[in-house]
Order: sequence, then structure tokens, then C-alpha cells
Amino acid sequence: MILDGKTLSKKILEEIKVEVEKLDKKPHLAVILVGDDPASRIYVNNKKKTALNIGINSTIIELPKDTEESVLIEYIQRLNNDDDITGILVQMPLPKHINKDNVVCAIDPKKDVDCFTPENVGKLALGMKPYFYPVTPQGILIMLDYYNIPIEGQHVVVIGRSNIVGKPMVQMLLQRNATVTICHSHTKNLDDIIKTADIIISAVGKKVVRCKMVKYKSVLVDVGISRDTNGKLTGDLNFSDFNDINEILDFVEAFSPVPGGVGPMTIASLMLNTLCLEHTRILSRIAKSSFE
Ligand code: NAP
Repeated sequence: MILDGKTLSKKILEEIKVEVEKLDKKPHLAVILVGDDPASRIYVNNKKKTALNIGINSTIIELPKDTEESVLIEYIQRLNNDDDITGILVQMPLPKHINKDNVVCAIDPKKDVDCFTPENVGKLALGMKPYFYPVTPQGILIMLDYYNIPIEGQHVVVIGRSNIVGKPMVQMLLQRNATVTICHSHTKNLDDIIKTADIIISAVGKKVVRCKMVKYKSVLVDVGISRDTNGKLTGDLNFSDFNDINEILDFVEAFSPVPGGVGPMTIASLMLNTLCLEHTRILSRIAKSSFE
């Protein structure tokens, strides 16, 4: 089975659009971009385009790369106090002279749609409900649920321990009663650990998962994004030992492709957060009935 995040994200965005149309006051996502990193600009523009397509207001605040930390924090505080703004996102990475932690701490946790602030991250770690769940892990769980992939009691191996994917993924999986192993660049015998997984979630950015080595009928979720030698987008899963797609589909239970898997789910998940938690609940009910 292919975990088709592209199609699923379209369905979710359509459902969000219906919900947004019913609202008198539309959600408003503010995205701050500091500097001129081309990849960041593409991400930010994609978020804005997706938001506008589904009726969510979106404003991009572009600041020069030499912006002082205090000036950036003033912008954030203005957005915190602006009742029209419902979500704030600071595009990472920030220029090196800016302390990322100070910036993240300045965001109002009630508008922290990325789940970056200590309050939201702390709540997640304590098993309490944060104002927002982190977008990529949330998107992955929505995708696994949609494809009826059981999580409870499964051994999930998460590769990568970033604050935006690996660590919050582990917390959310624990809340779903999975048994979780987290791996990183210092992990010894990664292949041996991978072999024990029912589900592998790889967020590295390198071809670290040799798919012929995984357990038969395991589920593979590819978060990684890199470019191959031809400049084509690719993920962490290495399928080169297989002859064709049928052989892959016979061997694994399911896998998410790159592109077209976790990437679009992350955007859909961000839009769910921007719609706010109350509506996320409504949407999950609609989702359950219409997706079953
Ligand atoms: P990151 O900050 O780029 O860190 C990479 C992680 O991989 C680190 O924890 C690192 O370990 C680990 N790692 C590096 N080499 C390894 C190896 N050989 N074996 C095992 N682990 C290794 O992480 P990120 O921000 O989560 O991004 C990871 C990838 O996911 C990137 O390609 C990024 O573009 C992609 N991504 C995609 C989406 C999406 O929506 N599709 C969202 C977010 C990120 P150490 O901690 O020891 O250095």
C-alpha cells in the first residue's frame, strides 16, 4: 500500500475550506521570514498559497537578514497582541546572529501553530493537551490513522531526534501506546534496530533505511527530503535492492513516497492547526465518517 499523502491532504484541505466558509471571522496566519534563503521563501509562499486557497487569511512579514533579534521579537509581540492574527509561524532556520530559543519563547503559545514554544512542547511531554500539536508528527498520525495502520502496541523506530519531528513524534506515539525507539547519528547498529520495527519513521535527510533489511510487512514513513545526484527530490528510504514497485509492495505493508507523502500532510496539518483546535475536532469527526 502506498500512503498517498498528496490525495489525503487535498481531501483534508477541502474539508477545512468548508469549515472556514462557515466562519464570520476567518483564521489569519502570520508567517515571518528573516533573510533571503530561497528554500525558506518557497516553503513560506506555499503555505500562503495553500491558506488563501482554502479561505484562510495569510500575511508574510519579510525582514532583512541583518534584522536584530530585538526587532524580530517586537514584530512577534505585535502579532501576539493583534486580535486578528490567530496563528504565528517563524520560518526556520534563522540567521546565525539571532538566538532561536529567545524567538520561540516570544511567541504566544495560543498562537503557536507549529508547537515550538516551551509551554506547548512541555505540555506534550507531560501528556497534557498543548494548544497545538506539532505539524509534521500530527500529519503522520492522521495519515497512519486514515490508512488504518494500528499504532497501539507496535514497535515504532523513529530515526532523527530534531525538535520539530523526531522528539515530538516520540511523545505523540507514546500517547498512542506505541513502544518507541529513537535513533540518531550516534546510534550503533541502526540496521539491527530497524529490523525489529513494525513501523519506521525516518527523518534524517539521507538514505539511511535500506528497505530490503526491514522486517517483512513493516510500515515505512519517509519524512526526509534531499536531492539525488540528478537533482530529483528523494527521501530516506533506499529501495535500490528491489527490481520494481510490485516487489516493494509485496514486501512492505505500506510506505509513504517522497514527494507526495509526509510533505503535503505537513501543510494540511498546519492548516488544521490554523483553523484552531475546536475546528480540528469537528474536522476529525467529518474526516472519520467521510474517509472510512
Ligand atoms: P535535522 O535537524 O535535519 O536532523 C537530522 C537528524 O538525523 C538528527 O537527529 C541526526 O542525528 C540524525 N541523523 C543524521 N545522520 C544520521 C545517520 N546516519 N543515522 C541516523 N540518524 C542520523 O532533522 P529534521 O529537521 O527533522 O529534518 C530531517 C529531514 O526531514 C530533512 O531532510 C528535512 O528536510 C525533512 N523534513 C521534512 C518535513 C516534511 O514535511 N516532509 C518536515 C520536516 C523535516 P544527531 O541528532 O545525532 O545529529
